[in-house]
Parts: sequence; structure tokens; C-alpha cells
Amino acid sequence: MAPEKKPIKATKAKLPKRLGQGKKPISLAPHDPAILLEELGWIRRPQLTALRKLGITTLRGLLEHYPRRHEDRNRFDYFPDTPEERSFCLSGTIGRTIFRRFGRMRSFEAEIEESPDSPLSARITLRWFNLFHVQKSVVKGCRLIVHGKVRLRGRRLCMEHPEFEVVTDKDRESIHLDRIVPVHPAGEGISVRVIRGLIHRALSETDWSAWIDPLQQKKKADWGTALRNIHFPGSLEELEPARRELALRELLGIQTLVTIRRNEARKPRGAAKASRGDLLSRFLKALPFGLTSAQQKAIATVRDDMAQPHRMSRLLQGDVGSGKTVVAAAAILNAVESGHRASLMAPTQILAEQHFRNFQHWFEPLGIPVEFLTGAIKPRPLNSLSGANHPSVVIGTHALLHHESSLRGSGLVVIDEQHKFGVLQRTRLANSPSAPDLLVMTATPIPRTLAQTIYGDLDLSILDEKPPGRGALRTAVRTPEKLSEIVAYLKGQLEKGRQAYVVYPLIEESEKLQAKAAETEITTWRERLTPFPCDLLHGRMSSEEKKGVMERFLRGKAKVLVTTSVIEVGVDVPNATFLLVENAERFGLAQLHQLRGRIGRGSHTSTCVLIEGSGSPEAMERLAILERTNDGFVVAEEDLRLRGSGDILGTEQSGLPPLRIADLYKDGDLISVASLEASRILNEDPSLDQLNHLPLKRLMEIHAPRLSETGG
Ligand code: ADP
Ligand code: MG
Repeated sequence: MAPEKKPIKATKAKLPKRLGQGKKPISLAPHDPAILLEELGWIRRPQLTALRKLGITTLRGLLEHYPRRHEDRNRFDYFPDTPEERSFCLSGTIGRTIFRRFGRMRSFEAEIEESPDSPLSARITLRWFNLFHVQKSVVKGCRLIVHGKVRLRGRRLCMEHPEFEVVTDKDRESIHLDRIVPVHPAGEGISVRVIRGLIHRALSETDWSAWIDPLQQKKKADWGTALRNIHFPGSLEELEPARRELALRELLGIQTLVTIRRNEARKPRGAAKASRGDLLSRFLKALPFGLTSAQQKAIATVRDDMAQPHRMSRLLQGDVGSGKTVVAAAAILNAVESGHRASLMAPTQILAEQHFRNFQHWFEPLGIPVEFLTGAIKPRPLNSLSGANHPSVVIGTHALLHHESSLRGSGLVVIDEQHKFGVLQRTRLANSPSAPDLLVMTATPIPRTLAQTIYGDLDLSILDEKPPGRGALRTAVRTPEKLSEIVAYLKGQLEKGRQAYVVYPLIEESEKLQAKAAETEITTWRERLTPFPCDLLHGRMSSEEKKGVMERFLRGKAKVLVTTSVIEVGVDVPNATFLLVENAERFGLAQLHQLRGRIGRGSHTSTCVLIEGSGSPEAMERLAILERTNDGFVVAEEDLRLRGSGDILGTEQSGLPPLRIADLYKDGDLISVASLEASRILNEDPSLDQLNHLPLKRLMEIHAPRLSETGG
């Protein structure tokens, strides 16, 4: 026992402060959600240690350790006599067991019989490889419940590495049998059965009156009932309502964080920047095109925002090619005319350089100096331009963030392709002493529900209109056999003077992924496409090399770029009309949509060909969504529906905790409810004292360090 004491102490010291600590010492009631599991007094030390490895330390943590799935053990599946795609849940008795060894591999096999007393009893072979502990518990005559897929191995039906539980006669009256049984994620040193038992006991001993429900109009019982039902539902129908109740509370926690961020961002500080717009009119007059009405509207809103005494925090969302850069230019001109410097930050060197060229071209005739700053290049001294009569504009990569002097004086910071930066970088900017206005732009059209969450601290402007005169863009999904036809078509395009991109998922051949890689394919493409010059462009090249390649392509000296997703964002070469993506199944839909945004920028018809290399019908079907629509919002919705929202939160980008039970797609309707509730709670209880130990409290503990950065 002694050796186990240590780790517990060590972790205890690291545990976050609980409610009231530091203010007045309070002892927690045994039902307080924040009570440490060891204080409950009935969980054994080895179990406490194992739970802690799963990240579970408090009563709430335990009760929110949600099941992965449920098994209806009121009735089991019949033993199948043919393999099927679905999983089976079978109950039977173990007959023969065999231990085999081939080379270094060992396997343990056990036959499970449906009803051993009957001569016609169906049986299935269970098989485990290199798992020695299994043979200790799976012995002849014991009763087993197994869950897994049944496959044909040789002539036998076989379940490999099934999940299993040995059941005893006592289980008849227990929580493991004859009911709907939860299967929780288990871990080292703690089995599914033990966790099930602990949660069951915790549920039955908890007095919910100690739980303050953050949802005002809800009765406490709702929360307790939901927790009970999510683990031990009386029927499968009870699961979904319980999940929704809990999802709402989870989203409430997240929206509270978001609301705090938003309030922080709106604090009145920063200088009001109003201008007559003389520079803007001169700029617009010189542009070879007129603005779309969406652009006009966005520019008006931005100018309005900037004229206010509070900081602007605005997200400009617009599909690829909708013309966001011009809106950024207008914002920058407004800052400059009102006497402020401005900076624009782009996520890649290539994009930063492209912006630099554009802005130089636009602004130098207006007497506005434009500087360039990246990790590699030192900025030119300020106002080095002779005759400069305006504050300067700095353009660069995220190196800007680390270059104090270029940000310090900035009255406006524009972040292009915001989704490539994290929320931390955004908040760091917000905290810089000049409290600059912030305009962030993204081409990732995220569904509104999601925007309310990930970008909940920002006001939203949308460019929902594309500039006129664009050629059509078609997308086709093809299998690799079609390659020679595709190459012939591509050559036809090149003969007409067009240019093209060929995109590979990886830079180097990786055995593991077996994805074709740009670096090894460039030679093949040069042969295929002679005499048209092809260049290689990828993220591991030096910035000088990249710049050289981009310039050759822009001038039309290279006709084809064999490349990776480095061209995903922003690159604007209107003469490029063909995009081929190899192993397209390796990309997300939203990313492919971004990639195809590189073409369809000029007046010619453009073609995007996605080669599906895995041969999987699901992958084909997923990619076919891009054939059907060019609307980024539709693509984003589909992406969210197919992939689920799990991996969207819990990232650098969102700075929000991952979701455990809510799904931003399925529970999109709950987000607005949660958002309203969050505002109400923060109005009534700004420091969250009342709710300190509730979902919010935990979130604050985990994410408050980040938030305190926002707070300055
Ligand atoms: P994105 O929104 O993807 O950043 P850009 O700002 O790069 O789009 O604009 C894409 C292209 O469209 C650029 O070549 C730009 O000059 C051009 N463009 C922008 N606005 C208009 C407009 N109103 N009419 C015609 N072309 C425009
Ligand atoms: Mg852009």
C-alpha cells in the first residue's frame, strides 16, 4: 500500500484550487460534485490511481465519464452462422481453449457455445493475440459476454480481440446483466466492470441537492436524472434525452467561456479611428474593377466599427475568391488616414509576399510606405521611403507577433486566413498596449452554430457574393485509372496557355501512408507534360526558393506547380485553371474546397479533378459532395456532419475544451440556448462565485490561464 500513497499526494498538490480555497476554508459535503474521490472513502487506492490515469479525480469527473456505448443485456444476439458487418453481442459458455504459438506470435483461442447442453449449439471461436492475461479469466465452463465483429477465418466463424466480460451467478441481481448496461472507456488497472460498479454506486449515493444546476429554470432533478440515465437507462429511448440535457450543460460551459472572451474584447479602449475616406476613394478609383455590394457593405461596417471608442473585433468570412483583400485594404486605409500604422499578418510566407506585392502596387501611388517583415527578412527602417507622408503599413507572417516594435504602434491589425492561427495569437494581439482594432479574415466557411462558438468573441461580416466575370468551376472525382485521360485534358489546357496545380498530400514518400509525394512525382510529371515546364513547391523549401518558384509561376515561366497543401491558402494566380489532387481522400472536404479555390479566379472555365486513391466507396461518396456544390457553406456543413465536431474544439485554434458529449452538428440548436443562458449567468454573477464548482468552474480552471491572457 505504501508505494501508492506517494503519487496520490503528488497529484493532489497539483490539483486545481477548489471553490472557496484561499478565501474561506470550507469542507465539502460528500455529495459535492467537486469532492475528491478519495474523500468519498469507499474507492480503493489502486482504483483511485487507475482512475487518475484516466483523468478522473472528482465525483463529477467520475459521473461525467460517459459510456462509449450500451449493451442491451436483456436479450443477446443469436449466434450468427455467417459473418456480418455489424457487431454482435453474444452470451455463452466457454468450451475448449487452445494456446498456440507461431514464431514470436502467440494466440489464445476459446470456443464460446450458445447453449452447451444442446447438441446443436452454435459456437464461435474467440481469438486473442499476444494477450497473456486473457487466459487467466477466460476458462472452460465460465460464462462470457462478448462484443465484436464476426469474421470468417478459414472455415470457422471467429471474433478477434472481442471485448469481453466474465459473468457470475451473482450478476443476475447486479448491474451487469439483464438490463441495459453501459460500457465505459476503461484503462490500465481498471476494468469496464469495476468502473461500471463505481459509477453505479456514486450515482446511487449522490444527493443531488448539493448540486447547483447552472440552468436556472431547470430543476436539479433534471441534471441528476440525466446523469443517471446516460449511464443506466431504463430503456434505450431514455438515452438521447439524457444526452441532450448533458450536452446543454456542456455547451453552457463553453458559451460562458466564449462570452467572457467576448466581453473582454468589447471593453471600451483603443482609439477611435474615423476618416473622411479620401485615401479610400483614391484607392477605389484606381482599382480595375468596381466593388461587389457585399464588399461595399463590409467596408462600411468596418469603417463604422473603427470609428467607435471600443476595439473592433470583427471576423470577415467569405468564400475563397470573394475578394476579402480589398476589404482589408479599405480598413488599413482608414487606419492610415486617421494617423495610425497598420499591419497585416498572413499564415504563410508565400501569401505574405503576395499581399506585399499587391499592397505595394496599391499604396505606393498614395504615398503610403509598405514594409515587409518575416522571420527571414528584417524590416526596412520606418518611413524610409522618400516623400512618405503617411504612417506605414507592415505586412508579414506571424513573425510580426514577435516583432514588438512593428505591432506596438499599430492601430489596426488584420489577420488573413484566421483559421491558420490560434485563438492565443488573436488574444495576444488584443493585449498589445495599443489595443489595436482587429479584423480577422477567413475563407473557411464554418456553419453559423460553430462560428458562434469558435469565433464567439468576434462580430461577424460575411461576403456572400463573388465578383462578377468569373469562369465556371467544375469538380470531378475520378479513380487513378483515369489518369492518362486527365493528363491529356491537362495538356490541352496548357496548350491554350493556361496553368495548373498538381497537389500531393505529403512531401516525401512515407511507407506508412503510402501517399504519393510531390517530391518523387515531379520527375514523372515533367516527362508526362513535356515540353511544359513544371516546378516543385513545398513547405520544406527555404523561403527564398519558394519565392523564386512562385514568381516563375506568376510570370507564366512555369506552367505547372507540383505541390502540397502549402498552396491551400490565399494564392492568387488567375491564369491557373486546372487543379489535380492526388489521394484526395487524405484531405478533409473543407481543405479540398480551399484548395480548389486556387482556380476559377479568372474568366476561363476551370476544372478541379480529385483522384480517389483508396478505392473505398465511402471516400468516393464523401468527395462527390464537392462535385455537387461549389458553396463553401454547404461543404462545411457536410464536413461537420460527416466528421462530427469532436476534433474542432479542443484545438489550439479554438482554445476551447474538447466536447465530451455535445455534438455541434446534432446539438446546433442548443448552442443559442446555451449562449443566452451564459449571458444571463454572467450578468447575475460576473465572477461565477455561485457556480464555482460546477461545469463552468472546471472549464475555468483548465482554460482560465488562457483567458487571463485575454484579460491582460
Ligand atoms: P479572397 O477572398 O479569397 O482573399 P482575394 O481578395 O484574393 O480573394 O480576391 C480574389 C481575386 O478577385 C483577386 O484577384 C482580386 O483582385 C479580385 N477581386 C476582388 N474584388 C473584386 C471585384 N469586386 N471585382 C472583380 N474582381 C475582384
Ligand atoms: Mg485571401
